[in-house]
Amino acid sequence: MASTSVTTRKITIRGAGIAGLWTALLLAQRGHGVTLLERSEKPFTDACSFYAGAMLAPYCEEEVAEELIRELGLRSIELWRETYPELQIHGSLVVAQPRDRRELDRFARMTGGHERIDAARIAELEPDLADRFATGLYFAGEGHVHPHQAMDYLLEAARKAGTDVRIGEEELPKASDVVIDCRGLAARDELTELRGVRGERLVIRSDEIQLNRPVRLLHPRFPLYVVPWGYGFYLVGATQIESEEEGAVSVRSALELLSTAYALHPAFGEAEIISFGAATRPAFPDNRPRIVVRDGHVYINGLFRHGFLLAPALAELAADFIETGAAHSEVFS
Ligand SMILES: Cc1cc2nc3c(=O)[nH]c(=O)nc-3n(C[C@H](O)[C@H](O)[C@H](O)COP(=O)(O)OP(=O)(O)OC[C@H]3O[C@@H](n4cnc5c(N)ncnc54)[C@H](O)[C@@H]3O)c2cc1C
Repeated sequence: MASTSVTTRKITIRGAGIAGLWTALLLAQRGHGVTLLERSEKPFTDACSFYAGAMLAPYCEEEVAEELIRELGLRSIELWRETYPELQIHGSLVVAQPRDRRELDRFARMTGGHERIDAARIAELEPDLADRFATGLYFAGEGHVHPHQAMDYLLEAARKAGTDVRIGEEELPKASDVVIDCRGLAARDELTELRGVRGERLVIRSDEIQLNRPVRLLHPRFPLYVVPWGYGFYLVGATQIESEEEGAVSVRSALELLSTAYALHPAFGEAEIISFGAATRPAFPDNRPRIVVRDGHVYINGLFRHGFLLAPALAELAADFIETGAAHSEVFS
């Protein structure tokens, strides 16, 4: 909703990944004149976001991330809740094989927002996992979205809110007051510290098993997860490799992804493989997101493994900055 006291601006956003979509939507809803440029001919085909598990897991991510991620993630979940009717908030379940029990204890120490649950509660939450795990961690406040459906929805919502969406275009219009750069890894030409962290994932389909929420299976070497997408589809992800290689998924990664699904439940052995896919996550050296303000450009980048978790909150911070100059000290540079 446009505020009467705020000067509306002509804003160009570069890149329709999850960061650009959220930023376009929030600014258009606030009454600004927004143009969204996406270089690819078909939306999302070149976006890292297309490959995400799209878990919204501010607590589980404390295992590898700082408090800032949880703070921004919790705000983002509120924004997803207000905006996206298909948001799934059924929590996350974390389990381990008996021999990896210490991994579960370590994960519990590193994270908050969970309760330790026994086999009976696991069976209540996920009947198809009954008797497979003696104990687990349940993170009730976490959620997930289907990444492609969510991105389609945000693009349409941004259009309806008045955004001029230009697909297959990258030339900046001459008369912009502000340019917001959400080009992900492509912004490395200007943000030279950015690096790519490769992630691989698998999509499978099974009618034999039903999961109601993302399930993480801890393992000392390859901790992976399975996210239910509905209608029998599951995303199994994701590797994290310090490499910007763009090739197809390696045999080793495929074996790890497939073994995770099979270890979670042997019924996944009969699942159909729908697709393998890989993308490089844009990350700064400290793996924290940043909003960089430089020469009339505002860059939102470094979303690393938290694009869906952080994009709404970062978009809101960028919008507040444009309107009032307020800058969150841990995010802006
Ligand atoms: C396997 C995998 C699993 C993941 N799982 C999760 C998860 O569960 N939860 C989570 O929160 N995050 C997850 N992530 C991380 C998340 O996907 C990224 O953080 C996020 O996609 C980064 O989004 P972005 O908008 O910054 O970049 P991108 O999605 O890459 O979008 C950038 C866009 O800019 C466009 N572009 C480039 N150059 C130009 C130009 N000159 N003009 C116009 N447009 C341009 C590109 O075509 C692209 O569409 C995962 C990532 C991977 C790879």
